[in-house]
Amino acid sequence: MTADVLEIDDALAQYDPVMGLEVHVELNTKSKMFCGCPTEFGAPPNTQTCPVCLGLPGALPVVNRRGVESAIKIGLALNCEIAEWCRFARKNYFYPDMPKNFQTSQYDEPIAYNGWTEVVVDGETYRIEIERAHMEEDTGKSTHVGGATGRIHGASHSLVDYNRAGIPLIEIVTKTIEVPGDKAAAVARAYVSMLRDLLLALGVSDVRMDQGSLRCDANVSLKPSGSTVLGTRTETKNVNSFRSVERAVTYEITRQAAVLSAGGKVVQETRHWHEDTGITTSGREKSDAEDYRYFPEPDLVPVAPSREWVEEIRASLPEAPSLRRVRLQEEWAFTDLEMRDVINGNALEPIVATVELGVTPAAAKKWWLGELARAANESGQELEALGVGPAEVAEVQKLVDAGSLNDKLARQVFDGLIKGEGTPAEIIEKRGLALVSDDSALIEAIDRAIAANPDVVEKVNSGKPAAAGALIGAVMKDMRGKADAAKVRELLNAKLGI
Ligand code: ADP
Ligand code: MG
Ligand code: ZN
Repeated sequence: MTADVLEIDDALAQYDPVMGLEVHVELNTKSKMFCGCPTEFGAPPNTQTCPVCLGLPGALPVVNRRGVESAIKIGLALNCEIAEWCRFARKNYFYPDMPKNFQTSQYDEPIAYNGWTEVVVDGETYRIEIERAHMEEDTGKSTHVGGATGRIHGASHSLVDYNRAGIPLIEIVTKTIEVPGDKAAAVARAYVSMLRDLLLALGVSDVRMDQGSLRCDANVSLKPSGSTVLGTRTETKNVNSFRSVERAVTYEITRQAAVLSAGGKVVQETRHWHEDTGITTSGREKSDAEDYRYFPEPDLVPVAPSREWVEEIRASLPEAPSLRRVRLQEEWAFTDLEMRDVINGNALEPIVATVELGVTPAAAKKWWLGELARAANESGQELEALGVGPAEVAEVQKLVDAGSLNDKLARQVFDGLIKGEGTPAEIIEKRGLALVSDDSALIEAIDRAIAANPDVVEKVNSGKPAAAGALIGAVMKDMRGKADAAKVRELLNAKLGI
């Protein structure tokens, strides 16, 4: 019997992976793409429908201008060319959650095409070519009842909700991505994560992966190391988180490598991703495009965005996240290495927010990267999941600036924040972390240190003021670290007359 999967290292020793990523993003327009129905998430089933999105005979669609504008924004942000004239196309297939029996999509005339973008992984920049970004509509949603896993197999009946039918979608498709095999899965993850940042910055989508407003289909194939001939791909559908994108790509590499190295053939098919077990299973054999009998949509006029409109949209785009990074690095005076660590640690946005609250970039970086990202990493969590926000970091840093905490005590406050022990003030109180600000207590400790270390005092008096460091150390130890070292130095210097 051959193994189901190879170890990833063994797989990559024999094969080079090739990827293609298709990302569907639901736009946040108020109304659907071809009718006036509302798009809010979570309404009771079938309350947001009309003859158009139910595909009733004779109903005529009208294009949502805001949907087109969002598509152009996305295309421009991905350095695409914007079509001067393009049409919608009917993609014909039967599916119960698609009442028209065709999906209004775009085929060979996408609104945006030939773009590129970049992602950074482990400090390396990888360029990703964008094949196209096209407009289409979402389908309804089927719920299969009675089966064990919510899948249709074993279900007693199915329910269909058409609220989602006709919600505008943009499908962004990359050209094939070929990067060093050991980086492939991380590049796929970084790409989807970069897209989310970009879409949020553009304001065109809520980008809630948990609600399915950003979904990724990951195409993966393998070819023998060094070969230039593409292998057969599989398409793992609807992968729903950044981490899953990375895991699904890795899994497919190891699975296909096992098939190929045993002399088998990869089947061109769609595959389902299973979050719980971390594997993909066979879906349906994938139709080639011709099976869909695409043809231009006769009920809609072509979309011909004027060049003035496109330029207006271009001028209104926010700063590209990649350029913003360059600007922030300059403003913050971070080295390349520091900035790399910040980005790899997913700490950029938290640091921006903390700096906006008046904290210096260096201090914000120290806490977010040195303390919080490290803790998140150790516990295998995302940074946001720690439950510590920019406001808390700024509050702790203000206490450090005011001399009521030093860095060592601040670290313990962060530990308390992560453990959910309350606000910084409550943690300082409960854990007894405040610095001793009472001069008389410090002076007593200084007197004790002087009495216990006559040899050090001797050295200082004989013209070696640097020796006083040992006395500061002794005082800090005496105070169990709860003293402001700068204050101790000041008081000690006064005492010793240096
Ligand atoms: P489909 O209709 O099958 O979804 P698309 O053109 O929308 O086709 O997307 C196909 C995706 O798969 C693109 O990102 C493309 O770059 C990628 N792709 C094509 N051939 C391969 C291959 N051999 N290996 C990996 N990815 C591929
Ligand atoms: Mg596709
Ligand atoms: Zn409708």
